[in-house]
Amino acid sequence: MSERIESLMDRVVSLCKRRGFVFQSSEIYGGINSCYDYGPLGAELKRNVKEAWWRAMVVERDDIVGLDSAIIQHPEVWRSSGHVAGFADLLVDCKVCKGRFRWDHLPDPKQCPTCGPKGDLTEPRAFNLMFETHAGPVKDSASVVYLRPETAQGIFTNFLNVVNSARMAPPFGVAQIGKSFRNEITPGNFVFRTREFEQMEMEFFVPPADDGTWYEYWRKERFAWYSRYGVRPEKLRLREHAQDELAHYSKGCTDVEYEYPFGWGELEGIAMRGSFDLNAHAKGSGKDLSFFDEATKSRYVPHVIEPAAGCDRTAMTFLVDAYDEETITDEESGKSETRTVLHFHPRIAPITVALFPLVKKAGMPERARELQRTLMDAGMRTYYDEKGAIGRRYRRQDEVGTPWCITIDGPTVEGDGSVTVRDRDSMKQVRVAPQELVPMLLQRMRDWKRA
Ligand code: ATP
Repeated sequence: MSERIESLMDRVVSLCKRRGFVFQSSEIYGGINSCYDYGPLGAELKRNVKEAWWRAMVVERDDIVGLDSAIIQHPEVWRSSGHVAGFADLLVDCKVCKGRFRWDHLPDPKQCPTCGPKGDLTEPRAFNLMFETHAGPVKDSASVVYLRPETAQGIFTNFLNVVNSARMAPPFGVAQIGKSFRNEITPGNFVFRTREFEQMEMEFFVPPADDGTWYEYWRKERFAWYSRYGVRPEKLRLREHAQDELAHYSKGCTDVEYEYPFGWGELEGIAMRGSFDLNAHAKGSGKDLSFFDEATKSRYVPHVIEPAAGCDRTAMTFLVDAYDEETITDEESGKSETRTVLHFHPRIAPITVALFPLVKKAGMPERARELQRTLMDAGMRTYYDEKGAIGRRYRRQDEVGTPWCITIDGPTVEGDGSVTVRDRDSMKQVRVAPQELVPMLLQRMRDWKRA
């Protein structure tokens, strides 16, 4: 890993803290390892990631419906699904440095990654990743419950409820966004791997004969989603799992991977799960989870295609991919400076439009506030700033990825009411009549492409 690449990650992490995207959790108490809090801009960024996913999965189609299931579910759910017996990573300890590692993450299992000597590792042992707690006042084995390690099982257990209440028939999907918890052995790489994280998962139920076609469809669709929201396609790849990586019931699995500064990493997994999950819950619960097809007058257990993405990993990917440092030269003074800029898609950017009165007088602040209200009404996230030189105000917005800055100046209040709109990526300014402002911004939002 080169220094340049290593430092890119450091710079993104430092920007996240400085500008309020991500903070170390419990920082005033010295922090807690691998736990993070999202600050004002990070909360907006994550909300936009979820909104963009929900839009593509639920809003823009009529064959997928939403769900919001509980984090704590009946413990039998996790026995039937196989998580109690098998949701484990193999763990090894280094006898020399006392470090603890995931067996499948060691480059060479015989070589200890931190202290060097070979062969000084304990035998691998299974470590269940589910967090256990107790429901109610008595802490005994009968009260053990788990924090869900994935959102998917809540979808399978509600299969009949959704079919009956929303009148869905295969092919159809159920989408869910929510927190999941895994007691990871080696969390790290900022928010890439944490013990508490948010997932965006969709289970797509299809007639068994059609699962190959739908698998292909979802692989393409999910890959395209990341580039639609501005991630550079050359940094993305689809990686098909080898036969020995697949779970015994799985017919295929593909990861969408991104090339992070620390190497290629999984963003999302698209899995062909067959009828494994519905069968497992039918067996565990004693309920018939098959679907009655009115057309053929026959019953079958649908097969499932599951695109499962991580919200935090996606937010981090958008941040890392958007980050840039550019040398720019001021036309008037001829001086060069470095501008830090996040080239976010306008729908991902935490702030869509910033409003700057040129000076704090002559009716400009009042006019800026009026315009701000108009933009808020049009559903845009705005930011008002009247302090400092305009150039510095632009730089502050570039650094957090605000696509457009609007300046309210003399002609706005005394002349035709027009404002200047400055574009983050091209740094070009245009004068726009007040009635054209909202339609123009909406059009630019639709047409935006990563330069
Ligand atoms: P990995 O191999 O990285 O541990 P996984 O294959 O176990 O991940 P899945 O169970 O397929 O992950 O979960 C779907 C998605 O949820 C992942 O692609 C990732 O984006 C996200 N995710 C999983 N575990 C974590 C975690 N510990 N922290 C943050 N995101 C996670």
